[in-house]
This record gives sequence, structure tokens and C-alpha cells, in this order.
Amino acid sequence: MNELEITNGQLLPVVPIRDGIVFPGTEMILTFGRQRSVSAIEAAQSSGKKVVLVMQRNPNVNDPTPSDLYSIATVGEIVQMMKNEGEINALVRGVSKVQIQSFESVEPFFIARVFDTPDASDESNETKALFNHLTNSLRTAVKLGKTMDFLTFMNIMSGVTPLVLSYHVAGVLDIKPEERQDLLETSSIKDRLEKEITFLSKETKILELERKIENKTQEKFDKNVREQVLRERMKTIEKELGENDENKDIKELADKIKKSGMPADVRTKAEKELSRLAQMSPYNPEASYVRTYLDMLVELPWGIASVNNVNIKDAEDVLNKDHYGLKKIKERILEYLAVMKLRSRIDEKPEEVGKEKDVEKHKGKASPTILCFVGPPGVGKTSIGKSIARSLGRKFVKMSLGGIRDEAEIRGHRRTYVGALPGRIIQGIKQAGTKNPVFMLDEIDKVGTDFRGDPSSALLEALDPEQNYAFSDHYLEVPFDLSDVFFITTCNVLDTIPPALRDRLEVIRFAGYTEDEKFHIAKDYLYEKQREVHGIPKDVVNLTDEAIYDIIRRYTREAGVRSLEREIATVFRKVAKKIADENDKSPKLTIAPKSLHDYLGPYTFSSYLAEKKDEVGMSTGMAWTEAGGEILFIEAVVMPGRGGLTLTGQLGDVMKESAQAAMSYVRSQWKEFKLPEKFYQKIDVHVHVPEGAVPKDGPSAGAAIATALVSALTRIPVKRTLSMTGEMTLRGRVLEIGGVKEKVIAAHRAGIKTIILPKNNKKDMEDIPESIQKELTFHFVEHIDEVLKLALSKLIA
Ligand code: ADP
Repeated sequence: MNELEITNGQLLPVVPIRDGIVFPGTEMILTFGRQRSVSAIEAAQSSGKKVVLVMQRNPNVNDPTPSDLYSIATVGEIVQMMKNEGEINALVRGVSKVQIQSFESVEPFFIARVFDTPDASDESNETKALFNHLTNSLRTAVKLGKTMDFLTFMNIMSGVTPLVLSYHVAGVLDIKPEERQDLLETSSIKDRLEKEITFLSKETKILELERKIENKTQEKFDKNVREQVLRERMKTIEKELGENDENKDIKELADKIKKSGMPADVRTKAEKELSRLAQMSPYNPEASYVRTYLDMLVELPWGIASVNNVNIKDAEDVLNKDHYGLKKIKERILEYLAVMKLRSRIDEKPEEVGKEKDVEKHKGKASPTILCFVGPPGVGKTSIGKSIARSLGRKFVKMSLGGIRDEAEIRGHRRTYVGALPGRIIQGIKQAGTKNPVFMLDEIDKVGTDFRGDPSSALLEALDPEQNYAFSDHYLEVPFDLSDVFFITTCNVLDTIPPALRDRLEVIRFAGYTEDEKFHIAKDYLYEKQREVHGIPKDVVNLTDEAIYDIIRRYTREAGVRSLEREIATVFRKVAKKIADENDKSPKLTIAPKSLHDYLGPYTFSSYLAEKKDEVGMSTGMAWTEAGGEILFIEAVVMPGRGGLTLTGQLGDVMKESAQAAMSYVRSQWKEFKLPEKFYQKIDVHVHVPEGAVPKDGPSAGAAIATALVSALTRIPVKRTLSMTGEMTLRGRVLEIGGVKEKVIAAHRAGIKTIILPKNNKKDMEDIPESIQKELTFHFVEHIDEVLKLALSKLIA
């Protein structure tokens, strides 16, 4: 008998193992530390080297009793043993599966009586199939990374019996101790194989999952590493070649600085900023500010100028071609250009592009004054400005200054502000792209002053030829030479412009157009312009002359031609739609006054002054506002009362005073007007000036108020087609007033036939277009008596 064979009922030393099983046919190195175990091993070693290896039910029990142990165990053979400081390391090989029948001794170690319980041999096909399956599964698992002793694995793969396989696999599965015990206790090979297949497939799945996760992580990791490596490599290459992104940018900027034609001091500044930028990390937020600043500096047209070509004849042609009428204005502009040309010759302006200049040379070289176009909206100020630019071959820019209260709008914000920008002047120059554009500053009368500084003084510095060769913008920090810029300012009124600035302005007044002028502008300019804008072929639309006049009279009431242009645009829009709708070969359309309603709707201004009748207590005055001349109606009513005078209609102080003066005059002249001596004590007088909520002021309505008062008191109607203007003194003298041209044009527009003006205003007649002079009757007066004689429909009896 083989000495390792177990005889049934044999007594053998027992070693409890906390949580492991040595399956028959497998080997394992075990460490024994507990005294009882050490003694058992030593006893076994000295007898037949056989020992029962049994697992504890609970691994945490230190000193187990027989009842803490399972009853199915393995008999192992001690192959090798090594003692080490009270512990024993031993290589044990499982020999056979046994059943512990009883414990015969407990001290100094367990001795048990055991019976061999071999598994029944099984040659069935099913077992074979399970065996094959398990072998394959094990291979897959190992491939997926299951850790296993290599020799054991090779051993299994080279061919073993199902029983050996089942024990080997039971030893390497990743399962709980009690599951392992269950495998040991399973007495059928087939069942064990089945159980193991289930365990192994679970393990394989987990391994697969782990592998997938690992792959993904690896991929990601690989990608990152790859990118990093490539990036590093690129940097090295660029470094070797002396160029990387930042360097490239810096180089480009340096190049632009060189080419920008900056003056020397500006260039020094730019280069200093550039070297600061070069040293900054690109992630430094300040770097982007510095870059924006440098971009601004290099984009400014330091050395770019349009060829300075002042040819008076050409300029005249352009102005005439673009604009109807405005004869005096065109003449003034041509004179101005001529002076500019002469002065530039005297000053020998250096025109070389990009050449550094001596700033001192520039002082006072330009025209000493700045053109200022004053006039109501829509009279062609902007378009004349554009024509000037065209005739000089220069760029045109326009900046509106309306509503500016902050000096920084003109002069820029300091760079320390987040989002700082240059002021409007420098922005305009950048927009123009040349350093000598025609620069129109719109609405300079609407520039205000408040705690944020005085924009008008900054404006003056920009405009003043004495100072603007070195205009300082807070953002730029370096001076910019504005002396080549042709500034034109525009405004509606001069009064609100600060005197220091006004002194510098060469004022050219645009008075507003007469009906005839409007007609010609509409027929010869606006019509063509809008036709082209709307893409309507020539000769399709015939807007009759009468229709144009009707548009002017019935749909617009303005000094300029803006609404007129808008109405004509409306007509063309409708025409365009008609053509598109009918989809036909260009119909011929004639637009006569009759059909205007279809295009423009009902009249905007239905009644025409000339169509009204004379009335008591209502006179017609003439006023002058931002929007040009206006006629205004003055109403006076008398009612029982106690000598009160009420004034309404948003009248300014000056106008109120002239009403009071007019009242005093009438009272003092009671005899003349055939009134009872103390007539005023029993009445109240109410004077009202209607027409919207528009504030009205100025003394020039004095004569008209007096006329309305006298008419109301004497019950004599005032002639409706007559209007008057003139300041009146307490003694009835009629004094000179301003804005005659605008007023007369407005009165003419409204259908007035007779106009009374102060005698001293006779000189202004030459400004009034002849066509208007022909259609109106003018009376020049010195005293209110003359006015009353002319205005009242019958003499005071
Ligand atoms: P403003 O600047 O005075 O408000 P614009 O220059 O904008 O007025 O003029 C409004 C429109 O009227 C423009 O289309 C302009 O071409 C046209 N216009 C004004 N005056 C004339 C004129 N005398 N001849 C031809 N077109 C004119």
C-alpha cells in the first residue's frame, strides 16, 4: 500500500486553516503560527508526513474547537517545511478528500479519525463537455488577465482528468471560503464542474469589464500623452526655427509698427509696449489689453493720406452736380477751399507718407477756422459735406455728438479702465483710414456739460488748428496729428455752443428751401435717387409736377427735404410692389395728384392757410426754431373780468414780457383804438399761442401779439393771408429781428401773401430768393400803427 493512502478510520494530526483549502492534487505554501498547529505539523513531519487540513467555519476564531471546523477536509502531505521564529512555512500537497468522523484528542493538538471519501469517477459525455467548456473558459479567463500559477496552468492545458481539473480550478477561483468549501464537499464531479463554470463565467465577465475600462482609460491616457508629446515636440521645433505662435504675433506686430509710419516718439512707445507684451504670459489678462492697444496704434493712419488735391473748378462741378441751388453756400465753400489751398502752399506742408515731422512746423498751418453748417434738418448739410470730400478726393466720416456729456466720449478713457476705448475723434480717424479725411461732427449744439468734464473743451482742442497737431487722446497716450483733417461741424442752432468754440467757427447758414426749390430738388435729385434705390427702370413712372407740388404742400411741412424724400421713397416702394405683383413687362404708371391718395394715404396737412377766412383776435406771426422757420397763430380773447392777463401755449419769459408790453401799449393807446378809458378793469384777456407743446420764445412776436389784442378788443378781424414779425417797444416802435429768410420762406410755404417786416430788416431782403419776392408783398414798418393799418381788415372807426 502506498504510504500516502488513507486507511479508513486512520488517526491523523489536524491543522485548522482560517480561510483556505488545499484541494487534492494541488499544492500550496501555508504558514502555521498557532501553537496547536505547529505541534500538529511537527508531529506529522516525524510520523507519516500526513496531516488533515481543515477549514474553520469562522476565520476570526483564534482557538477553534472541533465544532468550529468543517467535517470534510483534505489530507495533505508535507512536501517541505521550514521553521522560522516559532512559525512554520510548509509546502503541502493535497492527497485526498476525507470525512472527519471524530476527534480523538484535542491536546497538544487535534487528532482525528478520518475516512476517505473519493469522488465517484464519471466518464459521461456530459462531464466531458463540461470539462472542455471549463478548460476553454479558464483559457479565456487567463487571457483576460486572471492571475494563476503559470506551471499549474500549463499543466492543466496539457491534459488532465476532469477530477484534477475540477480541484485545480476550485483552488484558483476568486470565490468566498464557504463557496470553496462547498466545492470540496460536492461529491459529483459533474456538479462541481457545473458550479465552477458558473463561477468562472462570472469572473470572466468582470475581467472583461475591467479590461474594457482599462482600455478606455489607457486610450485616454495615451491620447493625452501623445498630444502632450507632440506639442512639446512642436514647441521644440518652433524654438529651433525661432518661431512660435506668440513669437509670430509679436513679430507681426513689430512689423506693423515699422510699416505704420508712426512718428518717432509714438514708435518708441509702441515698441516699449510690445516688449512688455512679449514678456507677458499669454494667459495674463493684461496681455490682451496691451494687444488691443497696439492693434489700435498700428491701425491708425499715421502716415496714410489721400492725395491732397484742391482743384477749385472740379470742386465747383461736384458741388453743382450733387446739389440744386444753395448758390451762396457753394460760393462760401469754394472760397474756403481756395483759402485752404493758398495757405497750404505757404506752409509748404510736407506730404511725404510716413516721414517724421517737426511738430513746430505745423503750428497754425491749417485754415484758422472750422466750417460750421447751421440749419434745420434735411437741408443738405451732410450731403454737402460728402460732396466736399468727393471733390477733394478725400475720405468722409461723420460722427454725431448729440447727447454727449462725458469728456471721455471725445478724448477717450484712460487705459486703466476695463473696456477702455479711444474717443470718437480717434475712432473716426481710424474708420476713415486716412489722416486727412473730411470729418463731419454732427450736432455740436447738442454737446452738454456735467460733472464728467467738459466735452466742448476737448472738442475745441481737437478742432483748433493751433492745438490739434498734437491731439491727446487718453487711451492712445501719444499725440495724434489732426492738423490735416478737414473738420466740418453742423448744428441746428448756434446759441447753445460755448462761446470759446463758437469763436472758431466759420458759420454757413442753410436757411431751408422754398417750395420751388423743393420742387426742383425732388424732380431732379430725389426722384432719380429713389428710383435707383428701388430698382425701378427709367420711364416707368411719371410723377407729374402737380403731384410733386401736392406732396410738398399736403404731405410735408418742413424746412428741409427729408420728409419729402421719404414720401417719394414711399411712392416708389408701392410702385415696386405693383410691378412685382403684376409681374408684367413694366407697366407705365402716371402718378397725378388724384392718385396720390393710393400711394400716400390721406393728406397729412389737410388745410392750407390761404384757404381759411379772416378772424377776430387771431393774428399770424412768424417764428424761427431749430427746425427752421414756422408761422404761428396768436389768439386773444376778451372776457368779463378784472383786468387779468393770462398767457398760455408754452411761452418763454421773453415772449410773455412782450405780451405784457403789448397789453400796456394797447391800454395806453385806448383813445386811438376807440376804447373806453378804463376798459381793462372790467375784462380779462387771454392770449394763447397754439401749435403743439413746442416751447416758443423770443421777442419777435411782439407786433403780432399786439395785433391780436387790438383785434380782439375792437372786434375787427385780422387779414388771414398776412403775417408779421417784429419786436415792439412800450411806445409801439417796431424793432429789427433775426432769421428773416427762414421766416419768409416758412410764411410763403404756408400760403401767406403779404408780409410785414421791421424797416431795419430791409437789408435782409437780398437773401430771399427772387421767386419768393415776386410772389409776396412786403411792407416795412417802424411803428405798430402801420402794422394795424395793414393787418386789420378795416380801419378802426
Ligand atoms: P442734413 O444733414 O442737413 O440734415 P441731409 O444732407 O441729410 O440733410 O439731406 C437730406 C436729403 O436731402 C439727402 O438725401 C440730400 O441729398 C437731399 N438734399 C438736400 N439738399 C439738397 C439739394 N440742394 N440738392 C439735392 N439734394 C438735396
